Amino acid sequence: MHFSSVLSVLVASSSLVVAVPPTDRPTQINPDLRLIKTSEADPGTWVTEDQKIEEYVAKNIGFIDITDITVYQNATTLAKLSTVEDVSLVQAVAVSYPSSLTHQTQANTLINSLNTTGPKSWLKTLSDFYNRYYRSSYGTQAGTWLLGQLRTIAGTNSAITVTTFAHSFSQPSIIVKVPGTSSNLVIVGAHYDSTGGSSTARGPGADDNGSGVVVLMEALRVIAAAKFAPKNTLEFHFYAGEEGGLLGSSAVFANYASAGKTVLAMVAQDMAGYSPSGKVSVYNDYSDSGLVSYVRRIVTQYTGLTYTTDTCGYGCSDHASAYSNGFRKFELFRNQDFGLKVGFADSELAAAYVCDEPIDTSSPYIHSPRDTYDTVSFDTVLRHAKFTVGFLVEASYM
Ligand SMILES: [Zn+2]
Repeated sequence: MHFSSVLSVLVASSSLVVAVPPTDRPTQINPDLRLIKTSEADPGTWVTEDQKIEEYVAKNIGFIDITDITVYQNATTLAKLSTVEDVSLVQAVAVSYPSSLTHQTQANTLINSLNTTGPKSWLKTLSDFYNRYYRSSYGTQAGTWLLGQLRTIAGTNSAITVTTFAHSFSQPSIIVKVPGTSSNLVIVGAHYDSTGGSSTARGPGADDNGSGVVVLMEALRVIAAAKFAPKNTLEFHFYAGEEGGLLGSSAVFANYASAGKTVLAMVAQDMAGYSPSGKVSVYNDYSDSGLVSYVRRIVTQYTGLTYTTDTCGYGCSDHASAYSNGFRKFELFRNQDFGLKVGFADSELAAAYVCDEPIDTSSPYIHSPRDTYDTVSFDTVLRHAKFTVGFLVEASYM
């Protein structure tokens, strides 16, 4: 990928701002159009909401909806999503991920409490919504149902908070916070919206990504019930509008970046219930290489199996939103003269992507009405839940 040759370096703002593609919003543009990018080099294309789903998602073309980023003049984020040339380099400090795992006893106690009873029930309800398209009433109803379930699950520990994060569309993202003694964040995320290939199609979204959602719900259930008290603050993110171009996660991470929050690690899980290989897959692009190694070590330890790997491409899932907001680098320089407009180009990113399978052998049913409950393997869901609890316990002590 383009940024691989500038590991552990930062880029000064002045050269970056001119390198950002010409994406000025035309003054008379139809407000219903959205600006999307399919690669770093793509300057952007204005499309309708329906075109996004029918001409990109349904054809498995990855993209990021940058309309709001552009409107809000967030040059930092836009630069991270774009080809950057003629850069000047500044030394950066990277997070060091632990080289050994040190809390197996504590993690295994929680892992032994995991089961598939909740995931089966929750996934049935999620996939029974006609779809969870982020601009449909069904998508909003699914969000209301999920919010209620998360409040019930988290209710076993009064320290945990469950809040909604509103967007320009009606489906909210939902954030569950397990406060630690440090405000530094360790985040696991999964999108809960779905699409069947058009805005009106049946979209059960069982593997993509009801499975990732119920993995996080089950991990939260055991962590809440045990009143697990972390050092780093743990957050469970349930994103809206991923299928619309990473809309929910982009807004959440832009907000976190502007608030100066420190995110030590963010792991997205998108598809966690269909796995012919029987192994967790840890992808290697748009990710932090140190975090990827750490995540792979945790997969091996807590699933008892090796992992598979693959490359996902531009705009593949919500980890790319964490990537584009470049938390650590942002925090390092946010008090300098460049202010919020500083641009960074760096491939050391505090994000990783965990999936149920490499792309070629992944579910052939996603983004269609055939992504149904009966295609999901709950052995696979349980394997991802074990990984998730192992990750959260270990990373809570970083
Ligand atoms: Zn997905």
